[in-house]
Amino acid sequence: MTDHYKDLSIAQDAQKILRIAGEENIETVWDRLHAQEPQCGYCALGLSCRNCAMGPCRIDPFGEGPQKGVCGADADVIVARNLARTIAAGASAHSDHGRDILEALYHVGAGDTNSYQVNDEEKLKRVAGEFGISVDGKDAKTLAKELAWEMMEDFGTRKESLTFLDRVPPARRELWEKLHITPRGIDRENVETLHRTHMGVDNDYINILLHALRTSLSDGWGGSMIATEVSDILFGTPSPLSSKANLGVLKPDMVNIALHGHNPMLSDVIVQAASDPTLQKLAEEQGAKGINLVGLCCTGNELQMRRGIPMAGNHLIQELVIMTGALEAMLVDYQCIMPSVVEVAKCFHTKVISTFDKAKFTGATHISFDPKRGIEIGREIVKMAVENYSNRIPDRVNIPVSPTEMMAGFSVEAIVGALGGSPAPLVDAIKAGSIRGAAAVVGCNNPKIKHDYGHVTLTRRLIENDILVVVTGCSAVANGKAGLMVPGAAELAGKGLKEVCNALGIPPVLHMGSCVDNTRILVLAAALANFLGTDIDKLPLAGAAPEWYSEKAVSIGAYVVASGIYTVLGVQPNIFGSPNVVNLLAGGLNDVVGASFAVEPDPEKAAVLIRRHIESKRKGLGLPALDPDKIQMS
Ligand code: SF4
Ligand code: SF4
Repeated sequence: MTDHYKDLSIAQDAQKILRIAGEENIETVWDRLHAQEPQCGYCALGLSCRNCAMGPCRIDPFGEGPQKGVCGADADVIVARNLARTIAAGASAHSDHGRDILEALYHVGAGDTNSYQVNDEEKLKRVAGEFGISVDGKDAKTLAKELAWEMMEDFGTRKESLTFLDRVPPARRELWEKLHITPRGIDRENVETLHRTHMGVDNDYINILLHALRTSLSDGWGGSMIATEVSDILFGTPSPLSSKANLGVLKPDMVNIALHGHNPMLSDVIVQAASDPTLQKLAEEQGAKGINLVGLCCTGNELQMRRGIPMAGNHLIQELVIMTGALEAMLVDYQCIMPSVVEVAKCFHTKVISTFDKAKFTGATHISFDPKRGIEIGREIVKMAVENYSNRIPDRVNIPVSPTEMMAGFSVEAIVGALGGSPAPLVDAIKAGSIRGAAAVVGCNNPKIKHDYGHVTLTRRLIENDILVVVTGCSAVANGKAGLMVPGAAELAGKGLKEVCNALGIPPVLHMGSCVDNTRILVLAAALANFLGTDIDKLPLAGAAPEWYSEKAVSIGAYVVASGIYTVLGVQPNIFGSPNVVNLLAGGLNDVVGASFAVEPDPEKAAVLIRRHIESKRKGLGLPALDPDKIQMS
């Protein structure tokens, strides 16, 4: 193996398959990044605008060329508008996902699907209560329909604020009211962002950015939170379980199907279909020992959290999993699916099957998903995959590693349950200093950062220093593959965190789910703040997205900061063309929402920033704290 592949990823499975890609001249995301370099400097700085046909316009960052677009917009306005549109795109993606799940809940309530049912009735009742629905004497179907109807209202314009804001600490709600950023209808905030950023509407960069925060809050406390809560109601609230990760989860003698994307609706029926005796028998007739389902990205996380389905990998693995030659079908729903998977699949026998009419892929087989016929469609897709087994070329099969054990399933309910039903033990451990604080290490992979290096390095440094880490999305897969998500990984933690983990039998890094499940982290942070009678920004908490790429990640970062949690980004956002916007987001926001962003590509340095922040928050709460200035890289 050449060092070149080690420069691209820290994961052994990726390094080994990348070598095959190199030998066989199969193009990957890394090749395409290289081909794009140098990337456009104006776009990288956020200084290009094509919002109208008088443009496109560019602002010269060196001050020698144009400083205004044709309409007169300056760097601040152009950068702020671009950022706001990015946030609206991310918030829309999450929220549209939430609405799809919500419609499935409605179909369950209306009795027009047999593919789904209410799995967590207790949660259905609890959430229905939050929406002011009387639960007395009502069966699950009636409640499902009523709750779905009420939640749909949160997408519209008829409410002054989102219902889940009742979970937010009072001080934070007052702050949002004062700033006029209380999120109203989800669709409303997103539409308003597009309106404001049209030429000639909002031409004050601060005003644009405040609304961008409001839009992100409609994602975090709205669309994404609805996606998480309704998924729990329909598919079950996760509880701790054992699973596995990396390309070693593929089985050489079974029909392998990868479930990729974000929406658990289709993948849930695929799980049901894969255990159908008729399809199992068909697999045997084809010479396979059975049907093996594996996950990718957040559809995978949804399945792993609830059913323990193993994860083949995260974002940058999606092309490589096909190159194992052992994948009969890649089933995709939406979000984070590179169109290139269709091209890679042409070099192997893998069928790429798209399923949502809003997410078609040229060259893929499209089977239109309808939740009313979910299980029927699931069987059709699994059958197609099974029948493709005979097309596998045995000599091309290369499953490069053995799987790594990991735990998943740490919903808020599971964490509070593990603590004995109350956040008190966690608060006590933080007060005593055995746990210094907690950090959420979340988000994507990006080929600009060595694959998984940002996630794993940052997480290691934090747990070594007694900071409990919670993970979601592709970060969960990275840390799982690195062996940090089993109880034994407590050995890698500092003394205090190790003792707590050993006492509870949990890993020092807790898998809280998919990208929309970052809302679980909001709920936990709000519960801690409410328990202590304070606001979220006073707590020793931090967020990090060391390898982010997605517009959704920008929305997540914005709602996390607007909720009061300091967040460190590992990839520079496209805002550095406006020093005013940078100064506001990286400093000024502290005086506005009590939290801000930092950008630090080196995870060793990012760990220092987070440790310093956590110690300063401890000091603010009057807890024993280290001198933040004395914290240096180890
Ligand atoms: S909105 Fe203004 S800056 Fe943007 S393309 Fe049109 S004229 Fe140029
Ligand atoms: S973490 Fe990022 S790359 Fe991974 S599934 Fe979520 S949005 Fe996509």
